Amino acid sequence: MMAIVKNKVGIVSCSGEELPEGTVSRIATRLVLEKLRPDETVTICLPLFLAGGEDERSFTRVYPTITVDGCEKQCAKVGTSKYSGKPAATLLVTDILKKHPELELASRDELTPEETIVVDLMVEEIVKKVDEILYQQKRMGN
Ligand code: SF4
Repeated sequence: MMAIVKNKVGIVSCSGEELPEGTVSRIATRLVLEKLRPDETVTICLPLFLAGGEDERSFTRVYPTITVDGCEKQCAKVGTSKYSGKPAATLLVTDILKKHPELELASRDELTPEETIVVDLMVEEIVKKVDEILYQQKRMGN
């Protein structure tokens, strides 16, 4: 049995190219991985994960994992649950849009100022979850 890696949280983003929600999901995940929690987070590409062998598919057994999805189809959550294990937390861009109906997504390429706000809100949600998971690990002495 593989041990959970201490002090690291896995983040798997959906790879949505078709919907602006998928773009938000990918950019927000990348910001957390590269800028906000670079030492506390790791990732894997969803397509590699879905196509992968045992190493890739043991991801959630090694890292408590947060899935970040653009829309209700929840490709990252479904793929992760099916091939690796239950994510520790699941986040959705559309949940943010429900809370902020004044914000609309339109583009898939360059972000509009409104889309940048949605990215920032998603980043906040991801960081909050990462910190919660790490705090719980510490409390449990892992
Ligand atoms: S969750 Fe939605 S946006 Fe993301 S890859 Fe799936 S269909 Fe596309």
